[in-house]
Amino acid sequence: MEDSIQKIVSLCKRRGFVFSSSEIYGGFAAIYDYGPYGVEVANAIKREWWKAMVQLREDIVGLDSSIFMHPKIWEASGHVSGFSDPLAECKNCNARLRVDHLLETIEVFADEKMDEEEINKIFAENKEKIKCPHCGKNDFTDVKKFNLLVKANLGNFAEDWTKEPTYLRGETCQGIYVNYKNVLDSTRVKIPFGIAQIGKAFRNEITARQFIFRTREFEQMEMQYFVHPDKEMEEYEKLKDFRWRFYLDLGIKEENLRWLQHENLVFYAKEAYDIEYQFPFGFKELEGIHARSDYDLSQHTKFSGQDLSYTDQVSKENYMPHIIESSAGVGRTFFAVLCEAYTEEEVKGETRVVMKFPKKLAPIKIAVFPLVKNKPELVDKARELYNKLKMSYMCEFDSSGSIGRRYRRQDEIGTPYCVTVDFDSLEADDVTVRDRDSMKQERIKIEELETYFQEKYSK
Ligand code: ATP
Repeated sequence: MEDSIQKIVSLCKRRGFVFSSSEIYGGFAAIYDYGPYGVEVANAIKREWWKAMVQLREDIVGLDSSIFMHPKIWEASGHVSGFSDPLAECKNCNARLRVDHLLETIEVFADEKMDEEEINKIFAENKEKIKCPHCGKNDFTDVKKFNLLVKANLGNFAEDWTKEPTYLRGETCQGIYVNYKNVLDSTRVKIPFGIAQIGKAFRNEITARQFIFRTREFEQMEMQYFVHPDKEMEEYEKLKDFRWRFYLDLGIKEENLRWLQHENLVFYAKEAYDIEYQFPFGFKELEGIHARSDYDLSQHTKFSGQDLSYTDQVSKENYMPHIIESSAGVGRTFFAVLCEAYTEEEVKGETRVVMKFPKKLAPIKIAVFPLVKNKPELVDKARELYNKLKMSYMCEFDSSGSIGRRYRRQDEIGTPYCVTVDFDSLEADDVTVRDRDSMKQERIKIEELETYFQEKYSK
C-alpha cells in the first residue's frame, strides 16, 4: 500500500509531474509545485470541471474573486472564531499532531464542534491507547484548538494589520457569497442559479501527510447554488448525482468511489455528504456536497449591513436564498487521477510502467519521433509533422535515444499516441502510430493523420 504511494511519488518527481516546493532549499513542508506534465493534467482537470459546471450549464456562471478579502468576511463566516483543528504535541519527539486523527486510529470519533475542554477530556480518557505515529511513545501535551487561517501582513504600515488582521482566504466560496449580489445585478441569472470558481486557498494544516492529499496551499473548485428554501433538498439530491457522474466521466472507477454522510452536522446545515476516493491509504474525501440553509447570506447580511435577500420578479416573494455547495480539491482529484492511471505490466519479462490517463487528461496528446536523429531528412520530416500537429494538440518532439526508450518515457508520461517517421516514410509518405495501451502499431498516411487524430480525440 505505502509501496504504491512511493511508486507514484517517485514517478511524479522522475517524470516532472510534482516537485516539493523550494527543493534546493531543503523543501517546504506541505507545499508542492506542479511540474511540466503535472500542470497539464491539473489544467485538464480544471477545464473538465469548468466545462461541466459552467460551459454546459445555462444556470451557472463563473467568477474569479481575489485571495485577499475584507477581514470582516472571515468573522462573518465563523472562520476567525471556529475554523480550528485540535492539536497536541508529542513530548518525546515534538511532532505536532491532529488529535482527531490520533483518536481515529483507535476508532474514537471526535466532533468538529467540540471545544477545547471537551476534546481534552476525550483525549485524556484515551491517551493510554494512543501512540505517536512518528516515535511510538504515548506522552502528549494537552490539546489546544489551532486556528487554520493563514494571517497575512497586508498593508503599508504594520499597524494596519495589527489592528485588524488580514488573511489569505481559507476557502474560495466566501468570494462567491460576497459577489452574489453583484452577479445578480449584472447578469440575467434568476434563482435557482449557481456561481462557480476555481482558485487557491490556504490553511495552516497541522499535520501534512500523504503527499499532495493535504497541503497548506491548494486549489479548490467550488460551486455555490442559490435556491428557494423549499427547493433546497430537491436541488441537493440533483447536485449529488451530478457531481458523482463528474468523477466517472474523469475515468475514475465507480468501485473506488463512495459516499460518506456526515453524522455531526454544524447547526445550520441540512445535510452533508462527502465523495470519497479509495487512495492507497484508504477512502478519503475528494469533495464535500453540503446543504447550507440560509446561513451564509444571512451572516453576510448581518455583518455587512447589506440586504442580500432575493425578490422573485414574478411572484414578488422576498426570501433569503438557501445555498447548496459542491467543494472539490484540484490536488486531490489530480492525486486520484494519478492513482487510477498508474499501471505496471509485464512485457517480455520486463515491467512496463504506464500512466493510463483518459485521453482528455493526458498531459501530452501526441509524441513525434524521427527514427534516428542523425538523418536530416527524417528529422526535418518529423519536425514538419510536429509543427502541424502542435497547432491542435499538446505535442512533444523527441529525437534522442532508442525508439524503445522513447516509448517507455512516453508511457510513463501517459502519452496516448507516438508517431514515428522512418525511412519508409520518405518513400510512402506514411508514419507508424503506436497506441499507448495496446502497444499496437499501425501505418497511417501523413495526409490522413489529422482526421485520424480528430477521430481518436473526439471520443
Ligand atoms: P479535510 O476533512 O480532509 O481536512 P475539509 O472537510 O476541511 O477536508 P473542505 O473545507 O470541505 O475540506 O474543502 C473542500 C475540498 O477542498 C476538500 O474536499 C478537498 O478536496 C479540498 N481541500 C481541503 N483542504 C485541503 C488541503 N489541506 N489540501 C488539499 N486539498 C484540500
